[in-house]
Amino acid sequence: MTTTNRNITGIIFNIQKFSVNDGPGIRTTVFLNGCPLRCKWCANPESQLIQTQILWDQKKCINCHHCIETCPKNAMKIIDKSIKINHSLCSGCKKCVYECPKNALSAQGEQKSVEEVLKIVLQDQAFYEESGGGLTLSGGELLLQPEFSRELLLAAKEEGIHTCCETTGFATEETFDHVMEYVDYILFDMK
Ligand code: SF4
Ligand code: SF4
Repeated sequence: MTTTNRNITGIIFNIQKFSVNDGPGIRTTVFLNGCPLRCKWCANPESQLIQTQILWDQKKCINCHHCIETCPKNAMKIIDKSIKINHSLCSGCKKCVYECPKNALSAQGEQKSVEEVLKIVLQDQAFYEESGGGLTLSGGELLLQPEFSRELLLAAKEEGIHTCCETTGFATEETFDHVMEYVDYILFDMK
């Protein structure tokens, strides 16, 4: 087993503790941003982009336009009385979120290192040992962040934690094999 690069970062959508439906035992499920598919039934469509995504809550918005004036990338516009964010321009700086006086904007997806994620996963190690649980990587599609996924899985194995992945398998064979080398249990989502 090689040593991990625990400084490598990924975009994390959510970390859910005490998951009991994402593999055996009690688990911590790490949801990654980014999916190449656009299934109509997607449970987390806001996780599909592989970047921090800014969400707008129309009900809270008072149309003050502070966010638009603040954005350093000119990524926000008003179209038909709605705030629209051009995610190809957005850098994910969150200045608009901090500037909004009504909390009408929020950010989904946060950059975290393997070390930072592992620290959270390790908090529940006693529950994994007791229940036969561990870490589950999910998404989005974890294969879209192959280096981060592999390093996190390897780091978990180095700490003696059981690893599981939820995947559609949407990647090349090389990428799939590269990521799955340190996976104990695969939940394969056939599309
Ligand atoms: S996160 Fe930054 S770049 Fe993106 S829309 Fe907000 S202010 Fe603009
Ligand atoms: S800063 Fe907040 S309240 Fe003002 S226009 Fe932007 S989203 Fe709406």
